[in-house]
Amino acid sequence: MPNPIFSTLPTTIFEEMSGLARSTGAINLGQGFPEDAGPEAIRAKAADLVLNGYNQYPPMPGLPELRQAVAAHYGRAQGLELDWQGEVTVTSGATEALAAAFLGLIEPGDEVIVFQPLYDSYLPIIRLAGGVPKLVSLQPPHWRFDRVMLEAAFSENTRYLVLNNPNNPAGVVLPDEDLLLLAELCVKHDVTAICDEVWEQVVFGNARHRPLIAYPGMRERCVKIGSAGKMFGLTGWKVGFIAAAPQLTHTLARAHQFLTFTTPPNLQAAVAWGLEHADDWFRDMPRALERSRDRLSQGLKREGFAVLPSQGTYFLNLDLAASGVPVGDRDFCLRAVNEAGVAAIPVSAFYEADPVTSIVRLCFSKRDETLDAGIERLAKARALVAAG
Ligand code: PMP
Ligand code: GLN
Repeated sequence: MPNPIFSTLPTTIFEEMSGLARSTGAINLGQGFPEDAGPEAIRAKAADLVLNGYNQYPPMPGLPELRQAVAAHYGRAQGLELDWQGEVTVTSGATEALAAAFLGLIEPGDEVIVFQPLYDSYLPIIRLAGGVPKLVSLQPPHWRFDRVMLEAAFSENTRYLVLNNPNNPAGVVLPDEDLLLLAELCVKHDVTAICDEVWEQVVFGNARHRPLIAYPGMRERCVKIGSAGKMFGLTGWKVGFIAAAPQLTHTLARAHQFLTFTTPPNLQAAVAWGLEHADDWFRDMPRALERSRDRLSQGLKREGFAVLPSQGTYFLNLDLAASGVPVGDRDFCLRAVNEAGVAAIPVSAFYEADPVTSIVRLCFSKRDETLDAGIERLAKARALVAAG
């Protein structure tokens, strides 16, 4: 018998909607990837390294130069002090980092607190490791948790908590008081946090990304996961990293060595170079994205859609119910891609139980023309739905 954890799963919503966009020729505002090619200097570096660099197995925990660059970057950007040798592991994307954390750390029967909406790779791998997910459901428009909700989720069997901050799909960047509360409860219940912070550099306006590992009592009980794909807008590169205290890193690296063992050395070296030369990029990239966010948001509002705020990520959400659109998110997205020529993501796909069904996620890391055409087509989808 095939493993039901996987055999019963549908194709991911990102693949499904991108597949429909490809087959129908629709504009793709679904899966999160930038439309432009990404920073040229880093791509040129990678190309040179493929031709002239080292193309054999790199060291299992990652190239020393990348591990050093990651530690230095987190020192500069987030004030963290990391020992690159004992505390940094390079993985094949954040997806592998998450899998290494879940498979390496969770013991059968451990309870793992996860927030809905949740990124799609979490639950299958938590279950594969024998973990028992405990869901905390967040609701639009604010998607916030409070002490009562959290205390109801912790039990004497809770060993891990998974946090995605900045949050995909909600676009929320957690404020200080929420992180303090999480830290307090993790310490009180002796829980380790697995922090998916892939969107840490994609934060807008006055919002600030603060890593949970920097909070009181969390230095030894956090696994911090990042992704060069998101930092540099090169989502296909799949170069991820894990920062964690030595004991955690030791175990994670044992899982990593049998998941992928390593990650292409030329991409690792190009990311290392990028991290050392990225000050302008890290300043300009969020500003450009913020302008795109505003263009999409304003255009949708002009068409009568209710748009939720986005403080970070490539995404904003529209609220169908508040926009007076009388169908669920999945039906709307299927009609939008099949009949109106624009792909989007139904946020119900990020819930395992009791889904919120009125929210549609849109990716704004696109050229102005694409965003404008997307707005027009979403308005068309809305008119189609209204016509029945
Ligand atoms: N976690 C979250 C919240 C994400 O949004 C993504 C991808 N967008 C990932 C993990 C996976 O990152 P990677 O492509 O580096 O595997
Ligand atoms: N993280 C991307 C998104 O949220 C999708 C990545 C994937 O397709 N696995 O759109």
